[in-house]
Formats: sequence, structure tokens, C-alpha cells
Amino acid sequence: MMNRNLELTIVCPFCGKLFSVAVREEDYIRYQRGALVQNAFPYLTATEREALVSGMCPDCQGVYFGEEYEEDDWEGEDIELITLDDDELESALARLYGKA
Ligand SMILES: [Zn+2]
Repeated sequence: MMNRNLELTIVCPFCGKLFSVAVREEDYIRYQRGALVQNAFPYLTATEREALVSGMCPDCQGVYFGEEYEEDDWEGEDIELITLDDDELESALARLYGKA
């Protein structure tokens, strides 16, 4: 059984929310030494891996990746990160938080 003994605390750069992803410490060391995230953490979901790479929390991933995210079929595919301009970011956060 894999023991995820390291809790990584991440602050989402998009919404400021604090969240955590649990990994094995030895895997995190390999990752920091340059292992690809999918090789270092084969047991993480695509959402968890993306959170490690970009810091984006699951909620914001849902906003940014939309329906493709819901299908959870990222395995083996390149994830295209979308750069939003200020207006798009504002509306994305508005959708997330229900603010106008
Ligand atoms: Zn977020």
C-alpha cells in the first residue's frame, strides 16, 4: 500500500484558496529533482497533478478547463493552459463565486 505521508499545502494563485494534496515524500523529492509529475505521482488524479504543477485549485480548474475537466479524460493528453485576460478572469471568478 502506498502511504501518502506528505501533505503539500498549496495556495491557489487564482482565487487564493488554501488546499492540500497528499503525496509520498520520496515521490515529491523525485519530482523536485526533475521527474515528470505523471511519473513521480502515478497515483494522483489529473486534477491533483494539475494542482501540483500550476497551483490551481480544483474549483478553478473546473472553471478554466470547463467540460473537458468534468470528463476527467486527461490521461496521456497534453493539457493546454489557457491564459485569461483581466476581463475573462473576472468573469471566471464571478462564475465561481457568484459575484457580478
Ligand atoms: Zn482557485
